[in-house]
Amino acid sequence: MKLFIAALDTETNTFAPLPTGAQAFAEGFVAHGDATSRPENYCSAQLYVWRRRAEALGWTVAESLCAYAEPGGITARSVYEGFRDEILGDLRVAKPDVVLLALHGAMVAEGYDDCEGNLLAAVRTAVGPDVPIGVELDLHCHLTEAMMRAATVIVTYKEYPHIDIAARAEELFTLIADAAEGRTRPVMAAYDCRMVGMFRPTAQPLRDFVDRMIGHEGRDGILSLSLGHGFPWADVADVGAKVIAIADGDQDRAIAAARYHGEAFFALRKELSPACLTVDAALELARDLLLEKPGRPVVIADVADNPGGGAAGDSTFFLEAVRARGLTRVMLGYVWDPVAVRFCMEAGIGATLDLRLGGKCGPASGSPVDMTVTVMGLADDVVQRFGEAPVSLGPSAWVRGEGIDLVLCTLRTQTFHPEAMMTLGLDPASLGIIVVKSMQHFHAAFAPIASAVLYATSPGALTQDFAAIPYSKRLGRFWPRDEDPFCP
Ligand SMILES: [Zn+2]
Repeated sequence: MKLFIAALDTETNTFAPLPTGAQAFAEGFVAHGDATSRPENYCSAQLYVWRRRAEALGWTVAESLCAYAEPGGITARSVYEGFRDEILGDLRVAKPDVVLLALHGAMVAEGYDDCEGNLLAAVRTAVGPDVPIGVELDLHCHLTEAMMRAATVIVTYKEYPHIDIAARAEELFTLIADAAEGRTRPVMAAYDCRMVGMFRPTAQPLRDFVDRMIGHEGRDGILSLSLGHGFPWADVADVGAKVIAIADGDQDRAIAAARYHGEAFFALRKELSPACLTVDAALELARDLLLEKPGRPVVIADVADNPGGGAAGDSTFFLEAVRARGLTRVMLGYVWDPVAVRFCMEAGIGATLDLRLGGKCGPASGSPVDMTVTVMGLADDVVQRFGEAPVSLGPSAWVRGEGIDLVLCTLRTQTFHPEAMMTLGLDPASLGIIVVKSMQHFHAAFAPIASAVLYATSPGALTQDFAAIPYSKRLGRFWPRDEDPFCP
């Protein structure tokens, strides 16, 4: 057997002002066929698993592109087409018996609302109808007809934070190897839950829902179940949550299982959406919590400015509110402001200067804030881990003004881990409040050091008012815009 593997991963916020071009991928990760001979990272984790499993079976492996860009606005057409055509070119040379692809599922490029559907259709045409194609998607995907038609099996992550990327890759390999060697005949079905939102399996009732899905796998002829949460900040026809079921040879069974779990998910809709505080309410509550339990910091997620969802990561709404309240021992970060970092580098550690902070990318970033700050820490490259994978902030600075600490970075990234501030010399345990630019991935590394975790929405790029997102292409009704979108 010959296995072909490739990865292409970016999540597109079609409402974000930041174009995603060649530089965004270069700052993320790009390897042309040799990702698994380099240190493992967020994008190459699946390729590592698949190569190891294939080689253990004595299969040969043809490795193609592995490319990742931090989520942002729409991808440049030429960049997407270049990556797609590279994969297709390698595929025609390799002539594989099996294909495994790690894709995001919410990549939009100029002229392509469904990059993954477009890519998979071309892959199917290239390999013909009989070669099994397995796909692993981020759970923040738009599952489309084109993807379902072209792929043999699709599996999404089940966890958010995405701590199960490698575990799902293992399962997908087993699924596709069983199919390729004739032990199973997988058939897929999808169920549209008609829901748009952000959902957290770290909390109930979604935790139990995910565990029930896992419990159903391997029973009653069901090979695999996935819940695609959807990625709300994209104006595409298929935005929203969907369940995928894979059954062994029985299409009706797949349809029934997808519907069963899809309806169960829909029934939970009102309990699933976490209460998101306003900026003011979050800071008030954090202050009260600190008075009750002063020992450890309260962590607030500034979810609307999460670069992991395509936001700029330089909004100033929280900074303005913290200053207005006169709060101190507050850290805000990691703020994407290469210009401010440059100023700090020139001034040097210990220097006090007037700095214009954040607010540079558009209305969703708020207004820049002018503050007098002291440069407390500098580093040419600061790295934080997301799971095991290192993520660079590039040249970075820790500044302090008015009792407020800010970590400023050069490479745009969401806040995954407190180690970036520690590298700069800032001890998180010394802080009362830590405001992180992240939706949920921060939770894995910050929750253990926090006395409480709060979620708050500023008026930033990733509004939590899902009913108000101005979709022009979404087909059909959906919750929460519609109280019951299944009601005729
Ligand atoms: Zn995701």
